[in-house]
Amino acid sequence: MNTSTFKGGIHLPGYKEGTQGLPIVLAGIPDKIYLPVSQHIGAPCVPLVQVGDEVKKGQKIAEGKGFVTAPIHASVSGKVVAIEKKQHPGGNFVNCIVIENDYKEEWADTVKPNSHPEELSAEEIRKIIFEAGIVGLGGATFPAHVKLAPVEGKKADYILLNGVECEPYITADHRLMLEKPERIVAGLRYILKSTGCEQGIIAIEENKPDAIALFQKMLAKEKNIRVQALKEKYPQGSEKHLIYACTQREVPVGGLPLDAGVVVHNVGTAAAIADAVEEGIPLIQRIVTLSGDGVNKPTNYLVRLGTLFSSLIEESGGYSGDVEKIIAGGLMMGKTVFTAEIPVIKGSSGIVVLKKTGKEKEREYSCVRCAKCVDACPLFLEPTTLVKLAKRRLWEEAEQNNALSCIECGSCVFVCPARIPLVQYIRRAKQEIGALKAKAKSAGGKK
Ligand code: SF4
Ligand code: SF4
Repeated sequence: MNTSTFKGGIHLPGYKEGTQGLPIVLAGIPDKIYLPVSQHIGAPCVPLVQVGDEVKKGQKIAEGKGFVTAPIHASVSGKVVAIEKKQHPGGNFVNCIVIENDYKEEWADTVKPNSHPEELSAEEIRKIIFEAGIVGLGGATFPAHVKLAPVEGKKADYILLNGVECEPYITADHRLMLEKPERIVAGLRYILKSTGCEQGIIAIEENKPDAIALFQKMLAKEKNIRVQALKEKYPQGSEKHLIYACTQREVPVGGLPLDAGVVVHNVGTAAAIADAVEEGIPLIQRIVTLSGDGVNKPTNYLVRLGTLFSSLIEESGGYSGDVEKIIAGGLMMGKTVFTAEIPVIKGSSGIVVLKKTGKEKEREYSCVRCAKCVDACPLFLEPTTLVKLAKRRLWEEAEQNNALSCIECGSCVFVCPARIPLVQYIRRAKQEIGALKAKAKSAGGKK
């Protein structure tokens, strides 16, 4: 297999054996659904419904102002019984629209199939994608229509579909590629049309040879779409590294993929786009891998948004022992959450439940200057230097040392023999630098 990759990065155990061979199962639809008004990058949405309102499945129930936003739709039919704060997978408390399911599964009038999707213009496709509330389903949750909008002076030469899924344990995209490849390709074609771009690439890591073979066969006669096999390496799925591996183009520091002539979408996002354009179905469900040694029956679920993690864990036979942690997202870039009473949102690709190992209390040791973190960093940063600066609260120096370029991939932490939580320190530095910049901006400074 002819594979590409990037410089740096690390080799991680995949832990995918538990779910990669398991077909997607429709998760039970619970009595109550909790839909946070913030499920995307951008300002939170504002509810369009009130307590007591009856809603239909697929009805728009919240929307935001401005361009960088994505509306939210009811994932079941029923009655709005509360709008209240609830813990979000991101860790904070967010207003949730709570819908009591009436199990009638009645669709909203707005959900209608499109009889001639092939006749839609680029602008019409982008509008459908916006109205359907589609965001990046790989976890980034950036509103999909924003990436497709024309930008003066810039043009995409490639639309790159990310089917890498390099996070340990997560197999949601892998199963989608095996079970619904035609939806992914259809979505890619709509994305190509909506941007006027002519070349599509579907990028897949070599640890999914079945998916690579399937797409290669499907696209054998296709001139404008190719399959790119990639070496198994972390974080191969990060946008910059993916773009480099597939096109040998580099995204400039502080720039966007479009600056390198590329637009990247997740394979799940492409499938959701096909459903929206052809069937008129907004984003109300997604595939979630529930895995880890802390759950009895790891499973790939098709889940209605707003279903609680606890409901999926229960459906999977509950916990398999004393749980050390529950991670919303992947092992490397996900967030540890302190309760399972948290809803699945648009960006929830996985839930990893880990059992106690007895090593949880191992403390952080002093840096032994082994430079393993420097070798592992795919952005060529010096994590150990950034941590030193963060500990001394030298935020400007941290910025000069490119702290803002850190993608928080966790590779440095994975290799550090001193168990230093490098990402936590760097994340803090990034927040402080951001706050300083905002302060300077509001004071009329130039920083
Ligand atoms: S410094 Fe940031 S980008 Fe580099 S390895 Fe650590 S987390 Fe990843
Ligand atoms: S890997 Fe850990 S111990 Fe080694 S240089 Fe980096 S911070 Fe220090």
